[in-house]
Order: sequence, then structure tokens, then C-alpha cells
Amino acid sequence: MNERIADPARRVLGGQLLDKRALRDLVAQAADNPFDLLYWASRIREAHFANKVHLCSIVAGKLGGCGEDCKWCAQSAASAPGAAGPQRLGLDQIVAAARDAAKLGAGCLGIVNSGRAPSRRDIDDVAAACDAIRHDDTARNLNLCASLGQLTEPQAARLASAGVRRYNHNLETSRRHFPNVVTTHTYDDRLRTAAVVRAAGLQLCCGCLFGLGETWDDRIDLALTLRDTVRPDVVPLNFLHPVPATPLGGAAPLSPIEILTIIAIFRLAMPATRLKVAGGREVNLRDMQSWIFHAGATGCLIGNYLTTSGRPPREDLQMIADLGFEVAEPTDTRKTRWAAR
Ligand code: SF4
Repeated sequence: MNERIADPARRVLGGQLLDKRALRDLVAQAADNPFDLLYWASRIREAHFANKVHLCSIVAGKLGGCGEDCKWCAQSAASAPGAAGPQRLGLDQIVAAARDAAKLGAGCLGIVNSGRAPSRRDIDDVAAACDAIRHDDTARNLNLCASLGQLTEPQAARLASAGVRRYNHNLETSRRHFPNVVTTHTYDDRLRTAAVVRAAGLQLCCGCLFGLGETWDDRIDLALTLRDTVRPDVVPLNFLHPVPATPLGGAAPLSPIEILTIIAIFRLAMPATRLKVAGGREVNLRDMQSWIFHAGATGCLIGNYLTTSGRPPREDLQMIADLGFEVAEPTDTRKTRWAAR
């Protein structure tokens, strides 16, 4: 057992938070001892979350035709010049997606729109979906989430009063690396929306996309910004699935061990926060997908992604059962216990 991993991990189990220097040292130690790090991440996860796994599904309410230039994104008009403008899903299709999600045991359905910010129609559509899902016998217990881009205070208030429980708005990477992958809006724009979401009383889902050419220092800075400034209720961890038409289409994939190390470092950095493995799980982890929970994850997306397919949901449910984990009830949406900090 590597004591330079075990010692800080025991301090985390005792309620301490690690600083940047300690997290950097953990990364260095994990290079030769990744499985020691996973062991401790698993223990910290178990101490805070027992054997519960949270599942989320997403549905694209509006797809493509985005004027922003996020270099990884297949929905950016810059990656698909000449493509038709955004395509919308009808209310019936969103309710059908909610029923499917509920049948799979997902606690949440996220309606995800392309674009910099929602229009009045986008907000109206999400409010109508909330109403329809609340009155649907199969889907009524689902928590509804939305990811519509930058929000104003009145828009956030409207979503909250319509019944949206949680809002997703990611930082994606560190402040330092962000301008290398997005130029049409700023890191502060993203932080502002995160603050608007929290002020409106919505839960905040705010996370990361790895594999953008970032360094370990970028990853640690992102973890500390999330933990110490943004304080999300859920942190989604996405791993780049390169799409050929995008500027990052030729990016080198992260190895499974590097991905598991990232999850574990985030677990040690923010011991009581829910970590949800989202995009890029299947394509990057392949046979090692089941390790995410022992690396410290507490949930994953189930079903398809926005522009790529996930594996059949029954395989994920079988994996969770085989690991001895239980899918959490949809009502178990407790907020992060920041008191544990
Ligand atoms: S704002 Fe969203 S939809 Fe638009 S390019 Fe960026 S990630 Fe893609």
C-alpha cells in the first residue's frame, strides 16, 4: 500500500479536504499505483453513498444548428456548415422519452437543447413538458432537468416554477484551458449562469469534459473551482468521444486507466458530491466500464447520448446488479451535504 496515497485518503475519510498540492501529489503517486488510488476512492464513495447508484437519461429537445464554436461539439454550425438549422422534438416524443427513462429506473430526465441561450419558445416547451410529465402515470415521479445554455434570472425563475428540479450547465475545463476550446463565450459567462441557477433555487449539475488536450493541473483546478466556488449538487464527468467533423475529431483518446484515475481524483477532491459518468463511457472504457463505481462514481447516464448511441440499457442494469449496487429511487435527490466539508 502506497502511504502517500493512503495518508491523504485517510484524512479525507476523516472529513478533511485536500488542497491543490495534495491532489497533485496523489496524481503523481497514482501514475505507478493507480489501483491503490481506486481502492481509497471506492472506500470514500462507500462512506458517503453506500451502494446506491443514480441513473439519468437525456433527450435532445433541440438538436444542431448552434452558433457557438465549442471545438468538441457536433452540434456547432462551425462543424457542420450548410446543415439544416436546429431540429426540435415534439412534446409527445419528450413524454415518450420520459416514460422510457422511468421504466429503466432513471431518477431524472434531462431535456438538452443546442444553442447559446434559450428563446422564449424553448422555455415554454420545457414548461409544457414538465406539465405533461407530471400528469403522466408512468413518468410522474421523474425529476425533470434542463440544459438550455445561458440563463437570465427570469428564465431560471420560470423554469423553477414550472417544476424543473435541476439545471445542467458545465464549465467543461479549467479557466486557463477554456479559451483554447471555446471562443464565442467565456468562462465567466458559464460561471454566471451557474450562479443564476443556484439563486433561483434550482439544483445545479455542473461538470467537466476531459480529453480536450487539458493537463492534470487543468483537471485539478477544475475540481477545486467546482468544489470551492460553484458547489454543484451533481458533477457530470464526460470523456471526449471524438466526432470526425469537429476540430477535435482527431484528438487522441484517453486510456481507461487515465479515465478511472480522473474519476478517483475527483472523488478524493470532493468526497461528498455526486459524480455522474456521462458521455464517452462506452467508447473510451470498453470492458472497464464497471470500474467507474469503484473509482468513485455514484451514477451514470443510461440510454443514448445526444449525437451518439449508448449501449443497451439492460447491459447497464445487469452491470449494476452484478456489482452489488442498487439503483436509487427517483425521489432520492438529496442535495450535496456541504456540511461534510
Ligand atoms: S453551446 Fe452547446 S450545442 Fe452549442 S456548440 Fe457549444 S456545446 Fe455544442
